[in-house]
Amino acid sequence: MASHNLAHIKIDELEIIGYSVAGEETVVAMPQLDVCFDVGKAPDQIIPINNILLTHGHMDHAAGIAYYLSHRNFCGLSVGTILAPENLLGPMREIIDAWSRLDGNKVPANLVGVKAGDEYQIKPNLFARVFPTKHSRGSVGYSVIEKRKKIKPEYAKLTGPQIVELKKQGVEIDYPLEIPIVSYLGDTQYVDFSQLKYIVESKILIAECTFYEGEHTERAEAGRHMHINEFAALMEKLQNEHVIITHTTQRTPMRDIRRILKEALSPEKYDRIILLMDKRPR
Ligand SMILES: [Zn+2]
Ligand SMILES: [Zn+2]
Repeated sequence: MASHNLAHIKIDELEIIGYSVAGEETVVAMPQLDVCFDVGKAPDQIIPINNILLTHGHMDHAAGIAYYLSHRNFCGLSVGTILAPENLLGPMREIIDAWSRLDGNKVPANLVGVKAGDEYQIKPNLFARVFPTKHSRGSVGYSVIEKRKKIKPEYAKLTGPQIVELKKQGVEIDYPLEIPIVSYLGDTQYVDFSQLKYIVESKILIAECTFYEGEHTERAEAGRHMHINEFAALMEKLQNEHVIITHTTQRTPMRDIRRILKEALSPEKYDRIILLMDKRPR
């Protein structure tokens, strides 16, 4: 029996599994990309994933770091990698060291400090790019981008041997192509993310929208989260094919959230929305 009843979403061949409720727990994994955005309380299902991309240090997003690392070791898996804002690395090391002493076994960890603009290689052709968010000091979001080489149109009709010949002569016959697959905003206030081309062009956007009711605008402001009014404004600026909403509050029932979203968004935008917590098997 798994520790969590996670939501399951499938977009084309890509699976997204996770759980996300504001203040309780947030963890969103994409197994085929070998990444897990935030770690929550480290559900069993995400332990085999090699890369955790942590957005900030709040307990509901980061509580499972030591268990994730330690349980991988217990299962005979390689050392887990956790990317995190660089200002969090000190306290994270202290927690992991304290757990090592408490447990009596060293918890192996590969911690990578990141800041906005950094890029980290996940697989030979897959990279995590880091962008800034407005939530807590150093907080970040991540885009996962596939990098390919594409042949320049003027060489597209050449035969294999002709291409080999050109390459021998040192001619650059291809150009780099970036395919943003997913962008995960983590916890954030409204930011005009349409200024970042790779977020605009991501096939999938995973965004928080915590508050829905009119009287909750101040709560959203105080907690540095997005309110539906801001989320709707952001949606107007973005064109992502699929938008997954995370970090919903338990203050508002799911059916009300659905209704409010429908009222706030154009039908064309509403059709792209998937509420993560709506996708849990019952
Ligand atoms: Zn949170
Ligand atoms: Zn937070």
